Amino acid sequence: MVRLSLGGWSAKKKEFHKLELKTQISIRASEARVLFTPIVAKGARPRLVLFFICLSLSACQQGASVIKDCVLPAEQENSLNGSWPVLPVPLAFRQNDWDSTQKSGLQKAATTWNGFYKASKNIPQALEFKPDTNRTPFALCSSNIVPDNEFIDSVVVMKTSSNWPAAQSSVIALTLFCLNFQAQGSGGLAQVFNASMDFNFDDFNNAGQKDPDEQSIMTHELGHLLSMDHSCGPNKPGLIECDNPEASSTFLDAVMFPTVQFNGLVGQVKRVLEENDQGRANCLYEGASGTTE
Ligand SMILES: [Zn+2]
Repeated sequence: MVRLSLGGWSAKKKEFHKLELKTQISIRASEARVLFTPIVAKGARPRLVLFFICLSLSACQQGASVIKDCVLPAEQENSLNGSWPVLPVPLAFRQNDWDSTQKSGLQKAATTWNGFYKASKNIPQALEFKPDTNRTPFALCSSNIVPDNEFIDSVVVMKTSSNWPAAQSSVIALTLFCLNFQAQGSGGLAQVFNASMDFNFDDFNNAGQKDPDEQSIMTHELGHLLSMDHSCGPNKPGLIECDNPEASSTFLDAVMFPTVQFNGLVGQVKRVLEENDQGRANCLYEGASGTTE
């Protein structure tokens, strides 16, 4: 295990990017809504932290320390949005967007979630990569990719390389998902019936621009895809603000914490599911398909 101190970074160099503001758009009256998430730059809020990089992800994810119970603190009681009616959720890279190195990083993020759910809930597979697709999500919530609890299409993982909305220029990645409140998924949550994931390669990832760790970003976005909200704030009843002194340190350490740090152009590495991520994730797929306990 290697311990890195970020204390050496000057406050001037530290920048934080929000990993998604949550916005809700009504799609069909009360039937379905799109929830999505951007990453917005915010003024530097220096926070002295030590973080740990586990050199063996499998040991981190599947060791004896894996949390197996649903743990949903009162300060996060409104932080679970829904659940897919069946697993695994199929993902597909949009054709020609991604090179093999990038694909490998994103797939490792899915492996992290799969390893966790296998260890915690004995779910054989939570996420699965399918062959690349040329499909572009359009009018996302007008189609259902899991009719009759069977996937007929994949969630598309794509890049936007130009014309990313200027108002969201500090958003690194965006996960949209559609909820059907008329159908209950596991845990009594609304069912997710479609989603997409979009990475900002317009304002990030190019020469001279900030360079997020894609595997870390993907690990966070997959938490959203599985229907988990951020670990804290902002402005949501039933979810504590991140700067509330009473917010647990486990919320601040979580992969689902809403901001990413940058040291100059280099993004923070945060690839391992932490205690709070695991406890909340266990509340989503209790009794999910493939579960044997
Ligand atoms: Zn987020």
